[in-house]
Amino acid sequence: MTERIYYRDSYLKEYKSKVVKKIEIKNRPALVLDQTIFYPTSGGQPYDQGFIQNIPVVEVLEEGEDVIHILPQEWEGKEQEEVISQIDWKRRFDHMQQHSGQHILSGALMKIWGIETLSFHLGEKYCTLDINKTNLTSEEIKNIEFKANKIIFENRPIESYFIEQKEELKRLNLRKEVKRKGKIRIVEVKDFDISACGGTHCRASGEIGLIKITRWEKKGENIRLEFICGYRAWEDYFWKNEMIKMISGKLTVKDTELTEAIERLMEERREINKELRGFKEKWQEYEVNQLIAQVSPREDGLRVIKKIFKEKNFPEVRGIVQRLVNLNKKILVFAGVIDNGGKIIFACSKNLNYDMKRLVKEAEKFIEGHGGGSINFAQSGGKKVEGLAQAIDFAVRNWKNFTTD
Ligand SMILES: [Zn+2]
Repeated sequence: MTERIYYRDSYLKEYKSKVVKKIEIKNRPALVLDQTIFYPTSGGQPYDQGFIQNIPVVEVLEEGEDVIHILPQEWEGKEQEEVISQIDWKRRFDHMQQHSGQHILSGALMKIWGIETLSFHLGEKYCTLDINKTNLTSEEIKNIEFKANKIIFENRPIESYFIEQKEELKRLNLRKEVKRKGKIRIVEVKDFDISACGGTHCRASGEIGLIKITRWEKKGENIRLEFICGYRAWEDYFWKNEMIKMISGKLTVKDTELTEAIERLMEERREINKELRGFKEKWQEYEVNQLIAQVSPREDGLRVIKKIFKEKNFPEVRGIVQRLVNLNKKILVFAGVIDNGGKIIFACSKNLNYDMKRLVKEAEKFIEGHGGGSINFAQSGGKKVEGLAQAIDFAVRNWKNFTTD
């Protein structure tokens, strides 16, 4: 059994204790000490890091009453020898801030709405709290945050102690029922919240600094809150403030006017896009008229337009071809596009009896293409760009033979 020193003092950064057992766990060497300041993963709080005799401790876990310290390499000493433990204080204090903050947040949820905390997880970036509630508004979040931060600013003592008797448990009126039997560790935020917990906490609420709920989402029947405390909350405030300063600088407005400024920008963007669409439309109309004007009709009145587009993408050319055949009742178009390979579009006016689909099927061989379409409008695309001219020439020479009859 390892005596857990952090139960009575979570501020010890260095400690001398005896090695009880040298073992192997998860294929790695590990030590069991008679006493430890290292917190093992449990109750939603991750393990402490640090050193034992200058060997890094890579993981700490509990097995029954023992605390197991996993090392990356074997410690050369013998059982019963004394070792010096040092914990990574920055990591530990961060965990203390988050975990103590959780007690206060859970306490506030219980006090204000009578809502139970279902589970807690202390993550690397943020903490989560699953609560027994179905919906939540920003106003309610503000309310809870205010209450929790008020407790922090009042700098109330946070104490921990063990109780043995079940009767005593009843008298304490814990926030959450305890199912465990035997000795139970109680953590008390003075005159605010009493709960059973084995974690490491700050000695006064003021050390938590700040609690901020950053977002929340529905999780089945419940709600999951994401929150941060202490240095994490300050860091979050810092970068968000920098970001707001940067954005308002770029938009040359005050930070309080950002929402309106962004709405204005989006409105302008919508207007510009609308205008642009209009211009594109007009420009296409002009191009289409040019294409028709450049080709004189044959004796039977039919116009055959052929062109390989080099600076337009496929959807643009499709649009032009569509317009051409819609505009004129006696037109055939054989278009090529260089856009991510070679593509062909063959089309004719709806009243003409030529089979563009069949024509494309024959011509696509020159570009090694695969395509399809309808009788009046067919397309194909392939890798062989250099075959585009041949494909178009083939169409120009042979379209007369591809009738629908
Ligand atoms: Zn706790």
